[in-house]
Amino acid sequence: GRGDSLDLHNKHPDERWPRQNSLSMKEWDIPYDELKLFEVIGTGRFGTVYRGSWHGAVAVKVLHVLSDDCVPLDTFKHEVATFRKTRHENLVLFMGACMKPPRLAIVTSLCKGMTLYTHIHLRKDKFTANKSVIVAQQISQGMGYLHARGIIHKDLKTKNIFLENGKVVITDFGLFSVTKLCFGNKLVQSVRGDSLGIPAGWLCYLAPELCRALTPHASLHLPFSKATDVYAFGTVWYELLCGEYPFKSQPPEAVIWQVGKGVKQSLANMQASRDIKDILMLCWSYRWGERPDFPHLLSTLQKLPRKRLARSPSHPVHLSRSADS
Ligand code: ATP
Repeated sequence: GRGDSLDLHNKHPDERWPRQNSLSMKEWDIPYDELKLFEVIGTGRFGTVYRGSWHGAVAVKVLHVLSDDCVPLDTFKHEVATFRKTRHENLVLFMGACMKPPRLAIVTSLCKGMTLYTHIHLRKDKFTANKSVIVAQQISQGMGYLHARGIIHKDLKTKNIFLENGKVVITDFGLFSVTKLCFGNKLVQSVRGDSLGIPAGWLCYLAPELCRALTPHASLHLPFSKATDVYAFGTVWYELLCGEYPFKSQPPEAVIWQVGKGVKQSLANMQASRDIKDILMLCWSYRWGERPDFPHLLSTLQKLPRKRLARSPSHPVHLSRSADS
C-alpha cells in the first residue's frame, strides 16, 4: 500500500550501510576545547551558528539542548555518521562534531557568499531564467547525490542554499531529526495554535502528505521522503523564478489546509515558458509517486531550450542586477 512505499523512501540509512564502529566515529569527534568561536552568524530555530576556527575558518552550529533526554545521543551520532559520508561539490563540507552532551555541535566549512534566501527575498536580486536553470541544475546535482546515498534532506529551502561565486552549496541536510524533531511538538503546536513562532516560508516547502501529518502528536513521525525533498525543490524553483514565496501572505492554517487537499499556487501571472511551469507542477504533484526524481529533473533542466532562456521576457538581461556580485 501507500504507507509501505513511503517507508521505502524513509528507509533508515543503517539498513543500507553497516553502522560505523565506534573507533572510526572518534575521528570525527572534535573536542569542544579545540574550537575557537568568534561571532554569531545567526540563530536558527534549533541552534546557533558561529564563525569559528578549527584548522582554518569553519562554521560551528551549536545545538540548543534543553534537557539531556531531549536529544537522544544515538540519533545525533547516527546523523553525524550519515553526514560524514557526503562529499560533493554542491554540498557543504562536513568536518566533524562535538558529541559530548551537553555540548553538541556540528563543524562544517564556512560558506562564503550569501544564501539564495538573502539574494531573492532580502536583496530582491533578479535571477534570469537562464541563471535560475544553472542554479537549479546544481541543486539537482547535489540532491541527486544525497538521495543516491540514501540521505533525505528534510529541510531543503533557500535559506539552506548558498551561492558562492555562482556555485551552489547546500547546507543543513540530514540533521532534521535531532535538531528539529526533538522540538517537534513545540513547533507544531505553535503552527496549530497561533501564527507566532512560525518561520516565514517554512510551510510552503511542505508536501501535501507532510501538511496532512502536521498534528500536535504526530510530529515525530512526519513522512519525509525523497519525494518530499522534490516538492521542496519545486518551491525553491518557484522562488528563483518569481522572487517570492508561494502562498505569499496567507496565514499558516490556510496554507496547511489548501496544500493538504491539493491546492497549488496559481501560475497564471507567472511569466515563464510552458516547460518551466511543467517542472514546477511535476515537483508539486499531489501524489508523491508522480513527482520526478533529481536525475530526471536534471536532464529536464538540461534540455530546456536555450534560445528562450536567453531572452526571458520577465527579466530582461540589461535590467537585472547580477545575483552574485
Ligand atoms: P532554521 O533554524 O529554520 O533552519 P536558519 O537556516 O536561518 O533557520 P541555521 O541553519 O541555524 O538557521 O543558520 C543560522 C545562520 O547561520 C544562517 O544565517 C545561515 O545562513 C548561517 N549559516 C549556517 N551554516 C553556515 C555555514 N556553513 N557557513 C556560513 N554561514 C552559515
